Amino acid sequence: MNDLPIKLTLAGNAASKIIDKYGITSSEHIRLRDIAFREGAFVIEEPVARATASLVKSKNGATIRISPFDRPERKRFSIAHELGHLKLNHVEGKLQKACTEKDMRSWYKKSIETEANYFASELILPTTLIGRMCDVEEVDFEPVKKIAKKFRASLTATAMKFVQLNSEKCAFIYSEAGKILWSCKSADWKPFIQSGKILESGTEVYNFFKGKELYKEPIEVEANSWFNSDIDDEYIVEHSIGSHEFESVLTLLWIRPE
Ligand SMILES: [Zn+2]
Repeated sequence: MNDLPIKLTLAGNAASKIIDKYGITSSEHIRLRDIAFREGAFVIEEPVARATASLVKSKNGATIRISPFDRPERKRFSIAHELGHLKLNHVEGKLQKACTEKDMRSWYKKSIETEANYFASELILPTTLIGRMCDVEEVDFEPVKKIAKKFRASLTATAMKFVQLNSEKCAFIYSEAGKILWSCKSADWKPFIQSGKILESGTEVYNFFKGKELYKEPIEVEANSWFNSDIDDEYIVEHSIGSHEFESVLTLLWIRPE
């Protein structure tokens, strides 16, 4: 995580402090409503107009509103995201902060929403607890799914953490409507992945956006179809999962060691 902008690193650190403060050593200990309460925010489930969650500060503390209609993992993320706004002092001088579904999916823009997301990601998926689970021999979505299930987190947030904590050369890519939207990588990953790049034939993601079914298993694809390859390997491993609901694809790329 060393090449992260400083504000995102600080947001993660603020969440790590909470994990340390309450002596959290397992996924079951991450009871977000209790943590939020101890940190000064009361959580209630109530529809929020034109948003998915909100934070309202008052003299006596703060109230986090989350949508009662969201999935459990989404509710957890909303609580952690709003707590992030509170702990990172994003609501100073304001009456309230309302956040949309889009805000909660902002991982690559310079904004307080991205900071709140990094805070939430570290609170729900603490580096100290998932580090060892990211140490795997084969890079694909199987370990990511296991971690996501255990920690009740989204696949996207988990996959980001997974590649950042991984000792293999791997990258996580988020694509929408036939284009790479953003990516993140392991410390040893060298090839440049261009955001905004139109996906080329030869990648699994391209096939998805052309209406084909994706392989369930990881497959080998030509490295050149993903990026201008300056690596020795001609082929890399791609594992992609598509969502017709969001017209998006999550991809793990892996340069398999010799
Ligand atoms: Zn927000």
